[in-house]
Amino acid sequence: MRAFFISLSESKSLRGIAERSSIGRRLSSRFVAGMSVENALEATARVNDLGLSVSVDNLGENVTNPQEARHSAQLYSEMLDQIAARKLNANVSLKLTHMGLDVDEALAYSITRDLVQHAAGINNFVRVDMEGSPYTQKTLDFVRKLHGEPGNQGRVGAVIQSYLRRSETDVKELCAEGIRIRLCKGAYKEPAEIAFQEKAEVDASYVRLMQIMLKSGVYHGIATHDEKMIEATLEFAKRENISPKSFEFQMLYGIRRDLQQKLAKEGWGMRVYIPFGDEWYPYLMRRLAERPANAIFILKNLFR
Ligand SMILES: Cc1cc2nc3c(=O)[nH]c(=O)nc-3n(C[C@H](O)[C@H](O)[C@H](O)COP(=O)(O)OP(=O)(O)OC[C@H]3O[C@@H](n4cnc5c(N)ncnc54)[C@H](O)[C@@H]3O)c2cc1C
Repeated sequence: MRAFFISLSESKSLRGIAERSSIGRRLSSRFVAGMSVENALEATARVNDLGLSVSVDNLGENVTNPQEARHSAQLYSEMLDQIAARKLNANVSLKLTHMGLDVDEALAYSITRDLVQHAAGINNFVRVDMEGSPYTQKTLDFVRKLHGEPGNQGRVGAVIQSYLRRSETDVKELCAEGIRIRLCKGAYKEPAEIAFQEKAEVDASYVRLMQIMLKSGVYHGIATHDEKMIEATLEFAKRENISPKSFEFQMLYGIRRDLQQKLAKEGWGMRVYIPFGDEWYPYLMRRLAERPANAIFILKNLFR
């Protein structure tokens, strides 16, 4: 089922049909906060009211021309200004292919650098999401270079996927440079040469990386809905006397809302990743790949 939904996520024709249809938009609403910046800001305020922080993601990836890349960056810039104006507790997450990485690397770097500098100027932060393995090295190179620019220290962070065999080396290098990491399991289909295939291996890698990160003294994000990973993190933090203020948990909008609020009530940092925008199709398919039962859940809601 995972492979089925991941292959659906890559279908351009289905994507076009789904994103244009009103039924498609209704189907996506459990996991996507709406189509506009305003929708995302309203969802952010509601989540903040529950005591949770937010990272806002304007959905989109693999743009094919510079105009689209500039348009995406413009939306992020507006989003950062609105977060500041409304005093929301939120940062932003973006994908480099949405900033034009496939079109023109220099352009992608320059518009991402402008966004990070903009965020730094208003005391905010940009998370660079991790995409499929063809982009891993390039994405980490970008984040390192951005982090090295004057004024950007602590203002831009990376994402590491525990299913990749290379990740332990990457985590150690990023920690040594003081770069904030979001640790996740990984949402793409990757071959066995470079990625663990068994859940037990991915989970064991997750725990190993979490422990290195929590000991590093850098503020990191532990992004998972898996109660076993969360338990392992809580247990390690308590055993090693790691302050709840020195890292945060992260979860996706609409997933395990009960657990999000429970952890926050217990005093652990919790950030909710809020996606918005009309290019929701690949994002939703990756969420269905993680839990095919969501497809039934979404369909039931449609007929309710
Ligand atoms: C904040 C955040 C940011 C992320 N950023 C990236 C990124 O930049 N790059 C990337 O490759 N991946 C990213 N991911 C996705 C991540 O890699 C996983 O695919 C996803 O989080 C599912 O893994 P899991 O750790 O929740 O555990 P799993 O082992 O997949 O799931 C464990 C349990 O969690 C619950 N669960 C998991 N997924 C769902 C779901 N979709 N619906 C309902 N319940 C669910 C179920 O109870 C399941 O049994 C991100 C995830 C989060 C939370």
